[in-house]
Amino acid sequence: MSAIPTRRISPVRRLRQRKRFGALARTVVFSACIMALFTPHWAMAEVELKSNFVRLVFSDQDDIARLDKKIDFGDSGGWFAASTPAAAQERLLRKIDAIYTKVQRILDMRKPPMQPTVVLQVARDEDELAAISVKIFKRRASARAWYVYMHNTVYINVRDVHAGMIAHELAHAIIDHYFSAPPPRNTAEILATAVDRSLFDEVKTRNDFQ
Ligand SMILES: [Zn+2]
Repeated sequence: MSAIPTRRISPVRRLRQRKRFGALARTVVFSACIMALFTPHWAMAEVELKSNFVRLVFSDQDDIARLDKKIDFGDSGGWFAASTPAAAQERLLRKIDAIYTKVQRILDMRKPPMQPTVVLQVARDEDELAAISVKIFKRRASARAWYVYMHNTVYINVRDVHAGMIAHELAHAIIDHYFSAPPPRNTAEILATAVDRSLFDEVKTRNDFQ
């Protein structure tokens, strides 16, 4: 029993209400479709991983294994390396940390992990990277990867990347945070370029130069 008396609604009025509700439901569904069409991938649900030095953000979970395959830098595990998603994830995190620490050693800029942690934003393709650049710079960037000091974030396209590019951009993050203020852009660029050129060389420590 309800304390509120039920109101009798005429059949004509009920039909009109049903029609109105149907139109409203159709509008909601249509709007949702439009939003899905125009919402860029990078604004959708993201997947995050954390290594010791870097926070990795993916717009597509499958790109974890894709990025692992793209980076040829230690810990590849050889031909018989496990190919499970968990193994790919673990391998990728070790590779990213290996690149990060190698960059620190090349620059001789060793400091505790950055606070907040540097982010590696992994776009799923060229279009997504372009959409991100339009959002940040209000134009389509011509670079294949870049670092933004204000966001402490490296932006890459998983389909067009290699270890040297990641080393170069992480070098920018490390250089910009090593000094009390970021050095001049040309100075940083010369250093970052030197890093990706010598990524696979043996690093001499300070003592070796004495
Ligand atoms: Zn650069």
